[in-house]
Amino acid sequence: MTELNDFLKLLFARMALPVCPNCHLEIRRNTPESIWEESRNWPREGFWIILFGLPVQGRDPKELRSGLLRMGFLRLFSNGQTLPVEQWEPGPQEREIHVVVDRFPASSSDRGRFVDSMEAAFRYGKGWASTTLPDGRTLQWSNQWKCSGCGLEIKEPVPNLFSFNSPVGACPTCRGFGRVIDIDPDLVIPEPWRTIRQGAVKPFSMPAARHEFRDLIRFCTRHSIPLDVPWSELPEEARMGILDGRDGYYGVKGFFKWLEEKSYRMHVRVFLSRFRAYRMCPVCKGARLRPEALQWQLMGRTLPELCSMPVETLTQFFSDLESRTEFHPVSQMLLSEIRTRLSYLEEVGLGYLTLERPSRTLSGGEVERVLLTRALGSRLVNTLFVLDEPSIGLHPRDTERLARAIRRLVGQGNTAVVVEHDPSLIRSADLVLDLGPGAGARGGRLLYMGPPSGLMAVEDSPTALYLSGKRTIPIPAKRRDCSNGKFLLLRDVRENNLKGIDVRIPLEALVCITGPSGSGKSTLLLDVLYRALLRAKNLPGEKPGRHGGLEGADWIYRVELVDQSGLGRTSRANPATYSGAWEHVRKAFAYQPLARSRGWGPGMFSFNVPGGRCESCKGE
Ligand SMILES: [Zn+2]
Ligand SMILES: [Zn+2]
Ligand SMILES: [Zn+2]
Repeated sequence: MTELNDFLKLLFARMALPVCPNCHLEIRRNTPESIWEESRNWPREGFWIILFGLPVQGRDPKELRSGLLRMGFLRLFSNGQTLPVEQWEPGPQEREIHVVVDRFPASSSDRGRFVDSMEAAFRYGKGWASTTLPDGRTLQWSNQWKCSGCGLEIKEPVPNLFSFNSPVGACPTCRGFGRVIDIDPDLVIPEPWRTIRQGAVKPFSMPAARHEFRDLIRFCTRHSIPLDVPWSELPEEARMGILDGRDGYYGVKGFFKWLEEKSYRMHVRVFLSRFRAYRMCPVCKGARLRPEALQWQLMGRTLPELCSMPVETLTQFFSDLESRTEFHPVSQMLLSEIRTRLSYLEEVGLGYLTLERPSRTLSGGEVERVLLTRALGSRLVNTLFVLDEPSIGLHPRDTERLARAIRRLVGQGNTAVVVEHDPSLIRSADLVLDLGPGAGARGGRLLYMGPPSGLMAVEDSPTALYLSGKRTIPIPAKRRDCSNGKFLLLRDVRENNLKGIDVRIPLEALVCITGPSGSGKSTLLLDVLYRALLRAKNLPGEKPGRHGGLEGADWIYRVELVDQSGLGRTSRANPATYSGAWEHVRKAFAYQPLARSRGWGPGMFSFNVPGGRCESCKGE
């Protein structure tokens, strides 16, 4: 979302070094610059002769000579000495000649000339070049990536190799998603203390799977797998055979595969979803990139490793990298773009985020703040930014930094118009507009426009009353007694950053989880508690985050997730249809005498079904 991915992939294509997957050796290659560094140890008298090899077999000597002269190459190197191109005649066994690019004076310190000549030699020599030194040594160079241990050659990377959105870079197994949907043993065998006869294998214990259950019994009998021993006590081999199939028996996997082929049918899909869960892609281990991309490292880190670091840590990483050496101007530019963007993310209080976090898992406020950093990074001027409650979900600790980030946007010559309830943000504005006093028909009037300091004086403004503390949210005098003995107990929660905590949530009470952004609230509530409850209720959902156990789920009948994601699936949904009120309104209309005499049912008053809806817009 912040273009950081684009800069990172360009940076990797330029600066990363490959590591041999076989020998785990860092692979280096020769560049004109690295050879110049090495030349410090060479003899300082006479000339260094920079050469490239040219195959000559089967080519017409005359044409070859004139071709070389036309390109400006005047000398060849042969038998320890140079000779003019015109004098060259092919020897009987001569396969290759060495063309002189430059006779570089060994005493010279002209780095530019040396680098240019080496570059030309690599270009004409198709990646190979050599230098002959005054002491008679000839050094061979290759600008290809080649492992010195096993000789493995690695192709020069293109930027898209580092993008999981591109087929060039995406892991072929998971197509860049980092996870695959697969049978979850915990769901297939939810109660391992049951025996096979008691229906330990859940998908085969359903009435619709009577046939498959008989096949299972037959398989077990044939392989002397006991039917009356708890699943958990069966030998590993027997369990694998039942799950994966063996000796012509299809097993749970084969059964699911067969089902998958007709998964276009709704009830089959629902059935499958009860036993499957997403799990990490076995090939890329969640890194989303193909193996070739994971060979490349920057200071010992692959790109996915960098993306799994929190922004704060990443900032440190790049400042370490930058302090190490001098870089090519392009790399330098990429580095500084990356560092500025990281610092913006920190500024708006998102230093705890990792770059790999899918944007769909970010809260509304987080998304808005990420977009804000993009605006900061774009260096726009004369732009009006409309921000809709950017502080939503933000802990007071981070609101101040957010205010600073917006200030900076304004300082760059932009305008920010912010809808906001947060008192500290209201106070930090240059100008406040207060609308009200009520909602709907009772609102719509401009109550105040001016600097924040004057707002308090407005008498009929609810905003002013709360800001000045004249009105407050009443704190209940009496709290509900939470000691009714009903509670949920989550034990040893270790997902994400949670440090093995035990959490006891009393039931029939309003329970509030608080803490700064990134402290683990959403992980605890959504990834662990919500998903664990879904699982306890046998409802489809993703695998719960790591925890040691959930108690008390039996107290609860249903789980409902209410979050900031949009309502209704169709564009026609509105609060009335969503809450079910519309149904009663339609019935009331259908109950009218005229409607009854014409035989109109409730459908006549629905914009969702043909008959009721306007046909020219299909009820849209
Ligand atoms: Zn190797
Ligand atoms: Zn993968
Ligand atoms: Zn219409």
